[in-house]
Amino acid sequence: MPELPEVETVRRTLIELVAGKKIKSVTVRLPRIIQRPAVPEQFEDALVGMTIETVERRGKFLRIVMDGLVLVSHLRMEGRYGLFQSEEPIELHTHVLFHFEDGTDLRYKDVRQFGTMHLFTPGTEFELPPLNKLGLEPLEPDFTRDVLFAKLARRLAKIKPLLLNQEYVVGLGNIYVDEALFQAGIHPERTASSLAAGEWDKLHAAICSTLGKAVEAGGSSIKSYVNGQGEMGMFQHQLLVYGRKDEPCHTCGEAIEKFVVGGRGTHICPSCQKAPGQAGKQSTG
Ligand SMILES: [Zn+2]
Repeated sequence: MPELPEVETVRRTLIELVAGKKIKSVTVRLPRIIQRPAVPEQFEDALVGMTIETVERRGKFLRIVMDGLVLVSHLRMEGRYGLFQSEEPIELHTHVLFHFEDGTDLRYKDVRQFGTMHLFTPGTEFELPPLNKLGLEPLEPDFTRDVLFAKLARRLAKIKPLLLNQEYVVGLGNIYVDEALFQAGIHPERTASSLAAGEWDKLHAAICSTLGKAVEAGGSSIKSYVNGQGEMGMFQHQLLVYGRKDEPCHTCGEAIEKFVVGGRGTHICPSCQKAPGQAGKQSTG
């Protein structure tokens, strides 16, 4: 599933591809992708004549901002966008087509069919699902160590599932949570309330640097993820633990281990990230 860096890369690419284009018509071939309005024909009709102004991002959601409507799009597992000439043959698994007046199409393709699209009048999208319960944006200036601490430090749950929960911090998925926890030297099964003050400093810094570097590299190409123009992100070559089971830790040489935390495959260095109980308990706060 694309995480924040991958969605950010898609966003940047999409702006280049579609900003300024005016929609002539829309074709919905798979109604279940359209979550709002309830009737796909209303979705198609509402978008006619709209001009795309920009593409923004909230967590893992794209916000395609037009002069009168906002389309909120989530790629989920394998959704992707591509720009085509309208006469080009339609590829398999293409579910929504935005036909522009200049003879091009923005096409949404999704093999797994889990992606979603919601249409809103501008401004209302933040008051309703799916954007209304989202937490902190980790690449924004207001994501500080103290804000992270205030949100999570008293929680008794394990730190990894807390970081995956989009109601606290948005955009982190399985890859970047494993990377950030490794970089901070924190075992994913530690409870949030067991982390020492200095560990919150490290965790905050690790989240910022991991995501920042991944955005710079254009995201990671894991399995089928490709950015908006069909290019591969390069961050997978910088991953320190994710996908490196049995390979040596770059810091200490110990073999990377993989096990399940909260139902998710999880990668750690057993030497750099001490298990709960092993970790030196320090004062919290
Ligand atoms: Zn190590």
